[in-house]
Amino acid sequence: MRRHVSPMTILTNEQAIYYLLSEKDILKEIQKINRDVSEILGLQSTTLVRLLLSHFHWDQDLLTDRYWDDPDRLFLKAKLPNPNSSPIDLTPASPAPSDGSDPNLVTCKTCYSDKPPNEFYSLACNHKHCLPCWRLYLQSCLANITNVKKISCPSNCNQIVDDEEALRLLKHDERLTKRYEQVMINSYVDTNRLTKWCPGNSCSTLVRINSHLTDCAQMISCDVCKTTFCFHCSKQWHDPIQCSLLVKWEKKNRDESMTSEWLIANTKECPNCHASIEKNGGCNHMTCRKPGCAHEFCWICFGPWKDHATRQCNVFREDGVNSNQLSARENLARYMHYFTRYQAHNQSLELETNHSNQVEQRIQEMQAESKTFTEQQATYKAFDVLQQCRRTLKYTYAFAYYLYRNNQAEVFEQNQADLERATEALSGFLEAEIDAEKNISIQLMDKTRYCDQRRKILIDHCKEGYSEHYWAGLDAY
Ligand SMILES: [Zn+2]
Ligand SMILES: [Zn+2]
Ligand SMILES: [Zn+2]
Ligand SMILES: [Zn+2]
Ligand SMILES: [Zn+2]
Ligand SMILES: [Zn+2]
Repeated sequence: MRRHVSPMTILTNEQAIYYLLSEKDILKEIQKINRDVSEILGLQSTTLVRLLLSHFHWDQDLLTDRYWDDPDRLFLKAKLPNPNSSPIDLTPASPAPSDGSDPNLVTCKTCYSDKPPNEFYSLACNHKHCLPCWRLYLQSCLANITNVKKISCPSNCNQIVDDEEALRLLKHDERLTKRYEQVMINSYVDTNRLTKWCPGNSCSTLVRINSHLTDCAQMISCDVCKTTFCFHCSKQWHDPIQCSLLVKWEKKNRDESMTSEWLIANTKECPNCHASIEKNGGCNHMTCRKPGCAHEFCWICFGPWKDHATRQCNVFREDGVNSNQLSARENLARYMHYFTRYQAHNQSLELETNHSNQVEQRIQEMQAESKTFTEQQATYKAFDVLQQCRRTLKYTYAFAYYLYRNNQAEVFEQNQADLERATEALSGFLEAEIDAEKNISIQLMDKTRYCDQRRKILIDHCKEGYSEHYWAGLDAY
């Protein structure tokens, strides 16, 4: 179990504590909670406690409160057998052995074969079923569920099979044991608001957070698969946009996908010589490779790079009209402005992630050679910061699309432009210099630190805006 701290939300500057757990950790934890609560409530069956807890979304305090209030009502509402009042349903015990058969044998209530008593198992209800029938029964129960509600006696009475008992009956079947544990874990995760699976590709890490604010984005970094995601919506970490608005933005992108695909597919040539350009690095400062051209331009707006520093590429210029009166065509142009930038940073993020993986490999190869430890660390750090900046930039364009213009929005745009410039400079530096043998770590560290700083300034201003209500057009919390 690894403990982590993260800035809690895009709304506040609080720190949230969260834990990364393996499936083994979580099983131990489930068992511990069940034992503890069983003791408090004086209930024998830890499985009954597990089912009660899942009814209360694993809120122990709420369960104990309700239990002391009125236990009978509690069991009724949770649709679970009440061990304090419900008499054990003892209806038909096993049928008496028929004439002529061995009186020492017991008849199974499932398959009706006669076997010695030690080949049977029964719950408190004393309904005797032979062990092979039990296994088949449990197997069929497990086949149809993804999370253990309850497994009752095969004689259809009100007795519940305890987890420990079920696991003991399945002891020799590794596959079914695993399946039972998996189902126990799923039922814990599905009903527990403070626990979630890491959404990373086939990652089986669990995250448990110690407090959960509804509707607030919370950042989680999985150190197993290196995914950084939002606890609330399970998407890629999307600071500074809210979860709810991100859903809207992604829907908009799906609705407009025909238009945007056309535009993006048709703008891939050098604005000077019209040679087609293929992009394989993340940096958006482009230089045309065609002999004799060498035109430098911005991949996002296709403007010349030389006046890029003074002209804000990130701001959408409405020609004098106010945004309520934009025509459909202008509205589309406005949307495309933000969407292309959102898309461009996303593409850069992907390319730079690939690049960083290659570099990581190279660094390992060079370890024995000239690279010092500082240089290696500087490179890792630079890629890490670069990826954070790309991710932030990407989502600032969704944020900006919904934002109404005001003075604070202009401050935001300035911060965005600064971060964008710093990010392209770092990206270009990493692309150009990584093969060179000269000492680059000082410059690299400077550029990295500057990017990191710019990103923090932007995010802090966004957070301040949420709490001070600068932002109009964004969803309210
Ligand atoms: Zn049987
Ligand atoms: Zn029974
Ligand atoms: Zn993960
Ligand atoms: Zn979210
Ligand atoms: Zn060219
Ligand atoms: Zn540009």
